[in-house]
Amino acid sequence: TSNTTTARGDGQNQLPGVKNIIAVVSGKGGVGKSTVSANLALALAAGGAKVGLMDADIYGPSVPIMFGVRGERPLMKDAGNGKAVIVPLEKFGIKLMSIGLLVDDKNAVVWRGPMASSAIRQFITDVEWGELDYLVIDMPPGTGDIHLTMVQTVPVTGVVVVTTPQAVALADAKKGIAMFGQAQIKVPIIGLVENMAWFTPAELPNNKYYLFGKEGGKNLAEEYELPFLGHIPLVQSIREGGDAGVPALVGNDEISKQAFMEFASKAVRNIAMRN
Ligand code: ADP
Ligand code: MG
Repeated sequence: TSNTTTARGDGQNQLPGVKNIIAVVSGKGGVGKSTVSANLALALAAGGAKVGLMDADIYGPSVPIMFGVRGERPLMKDAGNGKAVIVPLEKFGIKLMSIGLLVDDKNAVVWRGPMASSAIRQFITDVEWGELDYLVIDMPPGTGDIHLTMVQTVPVTGVVVVTTPQAVALADAKKGIAMFGQAQIKVPIIGLVENMAWFTPAELPNNKYYLFGKEGGKNLAEEYELPFLGHIPLVQSIREGGDAGVPALVGNDEISKQAFMEFASKAVRNIAMRN
């Protein structure tokens, strides 16, 4: 079947105007993929790039809430060939698209693997991204059909692996790393970022509490000889901003902003080395 023989990005390029496609992955859910994706997109845009963010987590889309665009509907437009295209929303200078913007958020999306894959494929081909320097893709957790479909539909430049330092997240991150290294997929890993690395209480600014364990992500990067992209601390305002539609990089917590900017600049350096 096509699943076993198709190389990544095989056939025609569905996104000819997009220079770099970065997939943000993890094995485990809830480790901060969406938070990292949102702030990576914002950091790239702050550097002057044209950036899109695609929320491919069809089972748990977060972009509508994280960017404060929940309930907004993207425009549909005639592409000229009788086909309709979806025009991404724009917020904070980022082009945004999410399945969560197309379906009623009270209804659960219950798709079997093949249906989810074709929905994702259609989602990629039907959105008019235009010219972009970077398209960041916020992937669902795990290692499944959607990941395969993604790498087979678009030429993914590389993946950013997000993990927390805890053992259960690291174990799942290893599966993700193994998946993207498989011969049939072979997508470069741009690097690994350790999220929720430590907590510093406001009244003890020099203390670090390693709630999820210490340096688990950094050690994993070393073990697999992958670039380490940095630590993101656990900060209350990161969570609050995510829920309020104000990602850290457009908020006012300097520590969070610095952590995300340093991570993004390391990622950009590693992407440039691959091009
Ligand atoms: P995923 O996309 O991997 O499921 P999310 O980005 O949605 O993970 O993060 C899960 C929850 O944790 C969200 O409520 C988010 O705001 C919060 N969160 C993520 N990273 C941090 C962080 N560094 N500090 C505080 N809260 C965070
Ligand atoms: Mg998410």
